[in-house]
Amino acid sequence: MGCTAQDVIAALRAGAAVVAEHRDELIQLDRAIGDADHGENMDRGFRAVVSKVDTAAPETPGAALKLTATVLISTVGGASGPLYGTAFLRAAAAVGDAEELDGAAVAKALQAGMEGVIGRGRAAVGDKTMVDALSPAVEAAKSAAESGEGAAAVLAAAADAAHQGVQATEPLVARKGRASYLGERSAGHIDPGARSTALLLSAFAEATRSRS
Ligand code: ADP
Ligand code: MG
Repeated sequence: MGCTAQDVIAALRAGAAVVAEHRDELIQLDRAIGDADHGENMDRGFRAVVSKVDTAAPETPGAALKLTATVLISTVGGASGPLYGTAFLRAAAAVGDAEELDGAAVAKALQAGMEGVIGRGRAAVGDKTMVDALSPAVEAAKSAAESGEGAAAVLAAAADAAHQGVQATEPLVARKGRASYLGERSAGHIDPGARSTALLLSAFAEATRSRS
């Protein structure tokens, strides 16, 4: 089953809820290797997304994703705001004006989102950023879509892989973003942006599964 605009909106609400629930955890992760604002940034951004989606009522998945991008760019500060904003903007462009997204379209949107993040932030896998969650997520999403899985299963595969990617950031030395200022001292901590990426993907997967 595909993902309609209503499904995308439900997924965004679930994303906002999971970010709110993990706000303090994300703050603590960012306190260890950054400036302790990631939880606050993401919570502010996704609250604004939910409120904007309520008033604007986007009618296609692409419109909902584009609205999300605009709101995140204007409300989330720091490095992550423009990066997440770009991800959603590129995902929106990838899905175009389709009424419904199947598994392949979801995988394509995730890949486009990741390419947006890489294009903007220039991080590679292993640099200890959200790319370390996104890259395995995109690979898993692509292979699930190639085996014919629907939107919910593609998102679930992406989320599982992303969580593994998050764990893999722990021993890494950061080479991008604020954490890179710490050099070797950034090792031994999970990257906050990778964690928020995996949390969002799990929430999107769970919301999509419960509606399909
Ligand atoms: P800031 O670092 O400006 O305080 P946040 O705390 O909101 O912004 O976000 C930090 C997260 O942003 C990091 O944990 C990392 O995942 C991500 N990040 C930072 N720089 C980059 C980059 N160049 N490419 C990809 N992700 C990045
Ligand atoms: Mg920060």
